[in-house]
Amino acid sequence: MAVELVSNSLYDVVIIGGGPAGLTAGMYAARASLRTLAIAGESTVSQVTVTDHIENYPGIPEGVNGFDLAERLKTQALRFGLQTASGDVTAVVKKRWGDRDGFEIAAGGMRYGALAVIIATGANWRRLGVPGEERFIGKGVSFCATCDGPFYKDREVAVVGGGDTAIQEAIYLTRFAKKVTVIHRRDRLRATAILQQRALANERIAFAWNSVVESIDGLDLVQWVRLKDLKTGATRELAADGVFIFVGLTPNTEAFRELIAVDRGGYVIADANMLSSVPGIFACGDCIAKRLRQVVTACGDGATAAFSAQLYIEELKGEAY
Ligand code: NAP
Repeated sequence: MAVELVSNSLYDVVIIGGGPAGLTAGMYAARASLRTLAIAGESTVSQVTVTDHIENYPGIPEGVNGFDLAERLKTQALRFGLQTASGDVTAVVKKRWGDRDGFEIAAGGMRYGALAVIIATGANWRRLGVPGEERFIGKGVSFCATCDGPFYKDREVAVVGGGDTAIQEAIYLTRFAKKVTVIHRRDRLRATAILQQRALANERIAFAWNSVVESIDGLDLVQWVRLKDLKTGATRELAADGVFIFVGLTPNTEAFRELIAVDRGGYVIADANMLSSVPGIFACGDCIAKRLRQVVTACGDGATAAFSAQLYIEELKGEAY
């Protein structure tokens, strides 16, 4: 596809990503009177938008639907003058703009210029890599309980994984399914204690401990999964109309791995000010190497990244004081 240089497209800050980290960075940067563009990916969805209920976002004791929270963040950022575009970013390269160092970002067939870049691309759901997983996507294999849970009213489903996402979504699925079997490769869960307690006390949730999925099978739709017991080596079939896979995340950082330092998992290495290994490139949210991936930490990172970008740009323009 021919790439067009968008006229009048030199921004102070281009933010890559339209989730809580990117939108918060956008709000802070635009509010600081920086010319700011946020580019939301076309082939990725922000995880928050498919989260049914967030109960630990500070200041909202009644909880909030993830999609609604994302919409409110966007409304707030737009109010301060954030500009938005959509497209998957394919490259970020260094480029001089007049006498200043900057960057050029290729996304959705367009090129955008920026003095500073904030990477807030989040992370995507990891796959199991077993036979049947790809074939049955949309035919019983799902990575989103909020999207697909209602299809499984009074049916039996399996959830793979033992982390916060798997357990939170398993609990959510009991609203619809008559039985939810959590398949976990160890004999204890990774999920936080409160989620564990709720799941273990839920009569509709069963556990297949020390077990991995060897294949996902059926005719046109998923009908069963083949499980292997890692302790005994025995295999068995578990009837399931749906298989929800929540085995962690991979960061959406492929387009930047040549340019900035990432860890072994591909997460961007950023310092406490959200600066990456390259001056002028900042990163925030789920795509950076860190301990806690939550909406609240993504928002906090986003605010820090925007402020750091602001200081960097003031220095670049000779406006620092
Ligand atoms: P995670 O914490 O990395 O957990 C992934 C789970 O999948 C682990 O139980 C892991 O097993 C299992 N797993 C990984 N690869 C596997 C494979 N190939 N086959 C079978 N099982 C496999 O990922 P997550 O649950 O998606 O959470 C991601 C981040 O979001 C975390 O920081 C989490 O705290 C956060 N989060 C928080 C909330 C909340 O606070 N309510 C909700 C959702 C997510 P092992 O345990 O054996 O490693």
